[in-house]
Order: sequence, then C-alpha cells, then structure tokens
Amino acid sequence: MASSHSREQFDIAIVGGGPSGRIAALALAQQGLSCVLIAPTLDQQDCRTTALWQKSIDLLRDIGVWPAIEGNAEALKKMRMIDSTGRLFRAPEVVFDCSELGLEEFGFNILNSELNVFLEKACAAQPSLEMIADTVETAEFGDEQAILFTSGGMIISTSLAVAADGRKSTLREAAGIKVKSWSYPQVAVVLNLEHRLPHQQISTEFHTSTGPFTLVPLPGRQSSLVCVETAEGAAKLLAMTDEELETELERRAHSILGSFKLASKPQSFPLAGLTATSLVGPRLALVGETAHVFPPIGAQGLNLSMRDIRDLTTIVAAARHSHADIGSRPLLSSYEKKRFSDIRSRTNAVDVLNRSLLTEFLPVQAVRSAGMYLTGKLGPLRRILMREGLAPGTAFQLHR
Ligand SMILES: Cc1cc2nc3c(=O)[nH]c(=O)nc-3n(C[C@H](O)[C@H](O)[C@H](O)COP(=O)(O)OP(=O)(O)OC[C@H]3O[C@@H](n4cnc5c(N)ncnc54)[C@H](O)[C@@H]3O)c2cc1C
Repeated sequence: MASSHSREQFDIAIVGGGPSGRIAALALAQQGLSCVLIAPTLDQQDCRTTALWQKSIDLLRDIGVWPAIEGNAEALKKMRMIDSTGRLFRAPEVVFDCSELGLEEFGFNILNSELNVFLEKACAAQPSLEMIADTVETAEFGDEQAILFTSGGMIISTSLAVAADGRKSTLREAAGIKVKSWSYPQVAVVLNLEHRLPHQQISTEFHTSTGPFTLVPLPGRQSSLVCVETAEGAAKLLAMTDEELETELERRAHSILGSFKLASKPQSFPLAGLTATSLVGPRLALVGETAHVFPPIGAQGLNLSMRDIRDLTTIVAAARHSHADIGSRPLLSSYEKKRFSDIRSRTNAVDVLNRSLLTEFLPVQAVRSAGMYLTGKLGPLRRILMREGLAPGTAFQLHR
C-alpha cells in the first residue's frame, strides 16, 4: 500500500473499483507496466448478477481469474424469448440454443457481489499493481502526464489514466469530455429467486409492454430476475410484502419455474442512457460505464466494457513492446477509433429494442412480431442474431 500524503509515479493509473476498473487494472498490470488502482473499498450492496458472453469469459481466463470464478457461475445454454405483451400483434416464442453455433454455452451468469470479490482478491495478488483505497477528487491532464489528486491527499502522476469511475466520472469531467445522456420512463426491479423447478440452464425473457421480465439461471435452483416496469409499477412491486411479491412474480413468469422464494431483497435501477462524446483526452482513456450506459437488455453492458478493456490492453501492450509512449495522442486516437462503432451500434440496438416494446404504434408492433416470427423459423437468421448478440462483427462467420 502506498502511504498517504505522498507523491507517486506510475505508468498507468486506473480509477474506479467496479468490474471494469478491476478487470482493466489486472489486464494492464499483466503487461509488465507499473499500475495503480485507485478505488474506494468494495461496495457489497449490489444484488445484481451479470451474464457474461464467451469473449468476456475468454478475457477473464486470459487474466487468470476465471478458474476461481467458474464454480460460482451458472452456464447459459439456451435463451428463450416469449411475447407477453398481450397485444394484437403477438410474436411466437423464439429459442436460441448454443448448440446451433457449436458452443458448449453462450456464457455464464454470476452474482456481481461474488464477481467483485474474486476480482478484488486477484488485484491484491497481482504483482506490479498497487491498490489505493481512495477516490480521485480532481485531475489535471497535460501533454506529458496526468496528475490525479485523491481525497486522502495523495498525488499520482501517470503516463496514462484509465477512467472506470462510472457514469458520474470525475476524470471525464475534469478532462472536459461532454456526454449525451437520456432517460427512459422505466425502472428495473432486480432480485434473486429460489424456485421449485430446475431452470435447465435456460434464460427466459418475457417481453411485456413495460419492458423485459428476464429470469437468468444461477447455480442450483436459483435465478436472477430483472423486471423492467414503469416507475409506478416498480414502486408497487417494491411496496409488496415478500409473500405478495413472490406470488406476483410467479404469476408474471407464468409459473415456468414453479413457486418462487425471494433469495435477496429487491433493488431498483432507473433506466438511463449515456454516451461520452469522446473516449479519450490528453493522457486519458475511458472504459466501461464512464463511456457508455444503456438499459439492461440482452446483457450487453459489461460485455461491451470488456471489449473496451481488451482493445485498450492490446494497443498499450503493442506500444510497450515497441518502446512507444503508452499515453500518446496517436495511441489514444487508435483506441477511440477501434471502439467507436461497437459502442454506437450496441447503444442504438438496445435503445431500439427497448423502444419497440414500449411503443403503442401498431406498425412497429407488427414489424417486431414479424421479426421474431422469422427469427424462430429461419435458422440462418437466428444464428446471425445469436453471433451478433455475443460479439460484434461475428455474425457472418462460418465457425466459432
Ligand atoms: C439491472 C442491471 C442488470 C445488468 N445486467 C448485465 C448483464 O447481465 N450483463 C452485462 O454485461 N451487463 C449488465 N449490466 C450492466 C453492468 O452492470 C454495468 O455495465 C457494470 O456494472 C458497470 O461497471 P463499471 O465498472 O463500468 O461501473 P461501476 O460499477 O459504476 O463502477 C464505477 C466505480 O467507480 C467508483 N468511483 C466513482 N467515482 C470515483 C472516483 N472519483 N474515484 C475513484 N473511484 C470512483 C465507484 O465507487 C464504483 O465502484 C446490468 C446493469 C443493470 C442496471
């Protein structure tokens, strides 16, 4: 641990202790650079789970943390979409099966609280990664160095600052990077459930007129639930007793998993979107929710962040091998260029999917239903959508 009130110099300073910050810290420290992770002590209140697709699992494997995590995660082998809108144009059920792509599983679902603990332990054990349990109060970005000032009085100079300090990022603001932000008339109610029937590693997404109601398998007879509701509907759910909530959720799930018992208290997350207008500044790169936020539909958020981290690490590693400056403008521009279209396309796709559920406009409902109908009927279309959902630019690959 670095002592307080000191000045220190590192090749890279990563700021933020969410999954993006910790995974970025591990990946970058493993490139033989001196790194520091500045993050407050772990917040263990998060009852959400995260579904991670294969490419994200590959990254966790590459940085050496997957073997520890795997036993606590549940494999996701099928994804089922059921139209529960009750509207005139209703789509038939669609099932995506990983075996159609020759995969063992699409990915794994894990509790955020457990994922964060595994990542924290791995960071603590990582040589060349120093951890400072603090927050950054302000930052200055020059041509040669970024200088970070922590609340505890430390001053950190670095060739490259990586901002993973979330949607209200201090670093992004200090660098003067603007954001485009918006909100949705929806709130996600999130909790974990025990259920009587086995989930058979099938994730089920009911499409309702207020948003998706998604059950994602956890180890044993447990699943996580993300129920997207209006603000009023969410408030009603949150005001229910445990027994009332269990009955109401079982009704909405059409009892496909039998009776429910709450395994966690419900939490709520208002739905919002945000895109940073630039992913870089002088001596600064943004990753994760510092750069992009969108609704929890299709499990895209952290998976997209993992691709930010993968691309940034690849670019930094190449610079280090050629003895180039790891925080130079051309290097940061190449990171921004590499990430731009992936972030834009995911943000737009999630936005369109969400709005197509909310709309009362019949032609849009008809197009959505027809799309789901064709997806269910046409194997090649289904496989394209499955590949594109897992990773960008893989839709037309013939093999995995
Ligand atoms: C209901 C819900 C379900 C989701 N499910 C999935 C899913 O299944 N799959 C998926 O891929 N994604 C999912 N997501 C998205 C995913 O949860 C987020 O993308 C992810 O948690 C963001 O992580 P992050 O590290 O980028 O940001 P955060 O988790 O917000 O971390 C930011 C960190 O920075 C710290 N910080 C803030 N300011 C400072 C500062 N000044 N100095 C130092 N540290 C600071 C904060 O304390 C925090 O620890 C879901 C999101 C929601 C809302």
